[in-house]
Amino acid sequence: MKTDLFINNEWRPATSGKRFPVVNPATEEVLAEVAAGDAADVDTAVRAAKACFESQAWREMSGRKRGTLLFKAADLLEARLDEVARLETAQNGKTLFESKIEIGMVVNTLRYYAGWADKITGDTLPVEGPFFTYTLREPIGVVGAIVPWNFPLNIASWKFAPALAAGCTMVLKPASETPLTALLFAEIALEAGLPAGAFNVIAGGGSTAGAALVRHPDVDKISFTGSTEIGRQIMKTAADTNKRVTLELGGKSPNIIFADADLKAAVRGAQTGIFYGKGEVCAAGSRLLVEKSVHAQVIEQLAEGAKKLTPGDPLDKNTRMGALVSKKQQETVLSYIQKGVDEGARLVAGGKAAKPNGRGYYVEATVFDAVQPEMTIAREEIFGPVLAVLTFDDFEQGVQLANQTIYGLAAGIWTKDIQKAHRTAKAIRAGTVWINSYNSYDSGAPFGGFKASGFGRDLGREAIEGYLETKTVWVAL
Ligand code: NAD
Repeated sequence: MKTDLFINNEWRPATSGKRFPVVNPATEEVLAEVAAGDAADVDTAVRAAKACFESQAWREMSGRKRGTLLFKAADLLEARLDEVARLETAQNGKTLFESKIEIGMVVNTLRYYAGWADKITGDTLPVEGPFFTYTLREPIGVVGAIVPWNFPLNIASWKFAPALAAGCTMVLKPASETPLTALLFAEIALEAGLPAGAFNVIAGGGSTAGAALVRHPDVDKISFTGSTEIGRQIMKTAADTNKRVTLELGGKSPNIIFADADLKAAVRGAQTGIFYGKGEVCAAGSRLLVEKSVHAQVIEQLAEGAKKLTPGDPLDKNTRMGALVSKKQQETVLSYIQKGVDEGARLVAGGKAAKPNGRGYYVEATVFDAVQPEMTIAREEIFGPVLAVLTFDDFEQGVQLANQTIYGLAAGIWTKDIQKAHRTAKAIRAGTVWINSYNSYDSGAPFGGFKASGFGRDLGREAIEGYLETKTVWVAL
């Protein structure tokens, strides 16, 4: 596959000539050496994106035509779904089962926004006086998208599909751990017929290529998904050039089991909530809050389930937990597990690194009981398969515990009481609330955070709004 930078519909090595290795975390083997873009390459790509944005060809392209290009890209991707899913698994370590779901979501997201492209409309406004006043919705311009390694192509598509549908052009910087599927998608964009400069991919480091994109004066918006810490830095830097920003950041989401829940379903939901994607999921239900009267039952079932969920070869179709993305991430997760033990939480399942085939960066499905709210593992995002179980006495205490976090990305609620379910959903300060479900996503449902989990939304109509400016036009009658 192509491993150079994709700029202006051409493949180019980095100006510096540098390349960096991409490692398969399940085998510890180098998969590819990818061109390492830096500020000079970002500048070339941004110029191309700007020239395309200002060109007659792009400006005069109808929404319907842009939509047609995105539909074509969706068809081309769907035809190569298996190959792309395998590549995602190879670079990220997640199971093929998960990668297939995610690449399927990318296809859906492309189609969802392809459908929006010819439905972007303004309003007519009933103003005072003899005027005809209306609004136009216009694309913001050049968008820099910076994405993490956990859902590499999926989260990238949450940005490029609505941005291109809205008429923006884009420079995408994938995470340095996982640039391969974004580069493969560039081949698809080219084949689909996107004009030169509309979509560019610069692989490279965060502090080099990523930071250069955020500083660049000709980038009109940064759409970022990643850690809260880098999000804060981006917001500060973006202020210097008045860029618009959308930030999708970290989480420490509560999954609440009330005593009247269907406990079998709730335990299954708790497991999906934390172990799907090896827990490297921003919305992971990493704090399980259990009503005291059912705690013993829940812990017993959870520990049993976690012990059965053994990590294994992610390409095996029966594996349900793959390898963590990197050695560094494995070390981070193991150090949090050690902190949990040191601070007095009770380990009831997992807790160790694993090497199912004698290699790879795996961690066992881990459950801690008797976690107190002030413990590190109850407060900080671990981004791995580690569940912290806390208990509560009643509705008020459950909600108070759920909201006792700087984050506000997602939450789960398990109960058969419809009033309690909706009251809890209302009381929780988070961007997504799942009732008797966890980790459900759809291209049509907005996703994003409250509080330190960021602002702005991916997916749904709201994401399109994030790539548009409003122009108000006054006509004296
Ligand atoms: P990260 O913040 O380290 O990196 C994210 C991206 O930013 C990467 O492409 C990286 O190269 C780039 N980057 C790093 N430093 C930069 C800088 N100074 N300037 C510009 N770009 C820079 O995050 P990660 O470790 O890749 O991903 C894990 C984090 O992402 C977790 O905190 C997780 O919760 C969050 N996340 C959030 C969502 C969401 O939708 N809210 C989704 C997935 C992941």
